[in-house]
Amino acid sequence: TMSEDEYEDVIEEDQAQIGIRLNIVFVTAEAAPYSKTGGLGDVCGSLPIALADRGHRVMVVSPRYLHGVSDVNIARAADVGSKIKISCFGGEHEVAFFQEYRAGVDWVFVDHPSYRRAGNPYGDKYGAYGDNQFRFTLLCHAACEAPLVLPLGGFTYGEKCLFLVNDWHAALVPVLLSAKYRPYGVYKDARSILAIHNLAHQGVEPDTTFPNLGLPSEWYGALEWVYPTWSRAHALDPGKAVNILKAAIVTADRIVTVSQGYAWEITTPEGGNGLDELLRTRKRVLNGITNGIDVDDWDPASDKHIPFHYSVADLSGKVKCKMALQKELGLSIRPDCPLIGFIGRLDMQKGTDLIMSAMPDLLQDDIQFVMLGSGDPGTEQWMKASESAHRDKFRGWVGFNVSVSHRITAGCDILLMPSRFEPCGLNQLYAMRYGTVPVVHCTGGLRDTVENFNPYADEGRGEGTGWTFSPLSKDSMLRAVKVATRTYRDHSVSWEGIMKRGMAKDLTWDSAAAQYEQVAQWALVDPP
Ligand code: ADP
Repeated sequence: TMSEDEYEDVIEEDQAQIGIRLNIVFVTAEAAPYSKTGGLGDVCGSLPIALADRGHRVMVVSPRYLHGVSDVNIARAADVGSKIKISCFGGEHEVAFFQEYRAGVDWVFVDHPSYRRAGNPYGDKYGAYGDNQFRFTLLCHAACEAPLVLPLGGFTYGEKCLFLVNDWHAALVPVLLSAKYRPYGVYKDARSILAIHNLAHQGVEPDTTFPNLGLPSEWYGALEWVYPTWSRAHALDPGKAVNILKAAIVTADRIVTVSQGYAWEITTPEGGNGLDELLRTRKRVLNGITNGIDVDDWDPASDKHIPFHYSVADLSGKVKCKMALQKELGLSIRPDCPLIGFIGRLDMQKGTDLIMSAMPDLLQDDIQFVMLGSGDPGTEQWMKASESAHRDKFRGWVGFNVSVSHRITAGCDILLMPSRFEPCGLNQLYAMRYGTVPVVHCTGGLRDTVENFNPYADEGRGEGTGWTFSPLSKDSMLRAVKVATRTYRDHSVSWEGIMKRGMAKDLTWDSAAAQYEQVAQWALVDPP
């Protein structure tokens, strides 16, 4: 082991050796505000800017979808004028590149008819698109060409770059570097980092699709995957498949997950989704880096989506936001009544089944509850039905609406997150920044970022920014909510302490960006 001073010397040497300025190429299925369905979009919209601020040259390659999610729209990006042909799926497919230079970052959009669809990036009301393997294979091939061919700001990024590939959609990139480019001497000095935002999605398809991917046949082994027995139910034939995320776990120079807790969990049989054994073999290059948030976008002192502003120094606007939200939702306007919120995809991951089963008990108490989300149709129906059944207490907002999510984050007293697993989780971070107290299942990134309230710590001044409950059960969740609502009602000084500690937390991207930079440097000077 090294002393801290020795360690710093080593880092300095590394920096001198490789030069501070990296050429970084993000590859991702979504990047806010251009596209977003969840946390992946937020991260790939903010982290590139934070890295550019640190002096790196950064491009983000994502598909050119039909719709943006805000006024900063994909439609603003201009045609770069470079078209290329990509060989895969038994033919040649022409793609074009569009670009917008914004906030110090080259936002590059790959244009192909298969991206221009009415639904979200992955599917529509009929389910996932049937050709997602094709769409994201195309993205990966195009992203590998982008640094070589696009004269962004007059000159290309060139071969010496660092690919930061996100989730399975981008996971073919490290394989392509090894299989398609390096044998010809291209990208010899390039490195890749795989960022895992969610291990639940791996890009698994029948092994018969392998020849479509545009890889030399001897690379089949890198992608081959035999379904573990637990997932045979939806298996495609005798359990043989190609798994694109697996291939990146094998070939990437480094692997990062979005929190330290999750980095550990995915190496366990419970959290590994069949990949834990493989991940354990790569432990040496696996790190967890907790996501930051966009503190300008999410700032209660200036947020354009909320009707009143507030800060740690003056909290008075918060209760006004709450009353405005109650009015907007048609709930009775009661500043004293605990208002509890949930925001997120309606999915088993998020524990919405637990909320559903606990709702009768929750609503026994004098509280109000608002839920914003879309996803599982059964849960959507339940939200609508519950709204009619409990007009005075419950609101279910079915849909995806960024502006409403800001108003709920600001207006609620408590944000409930009973996620079954949570790689990082952003809503609890937004909540803390808005003085909204998170009550969360003690797992993954939630456990890393929410500190359980302890009224006796710090010489009686109290410590903690919310409540973490465990195990994941209706009863333990109800108990945590009960303690939270009681603290809200009866101990206003404690409550204000919890709010203020949450609001004062440093949630900026700076520290995460510095850690990514560190991992990038390790990838360059210390390849596995
Ligand atoms: P995940 O990526 O698993 O969906 P995260 O907590 O990391 O979960 O990120 C979710 C992001 O998506 C947050 O920015 C959250 O506010 C946003 N979000 C989720 N559902 C909705 C919705 N129905 N309307 C608006 N924003 C939503």
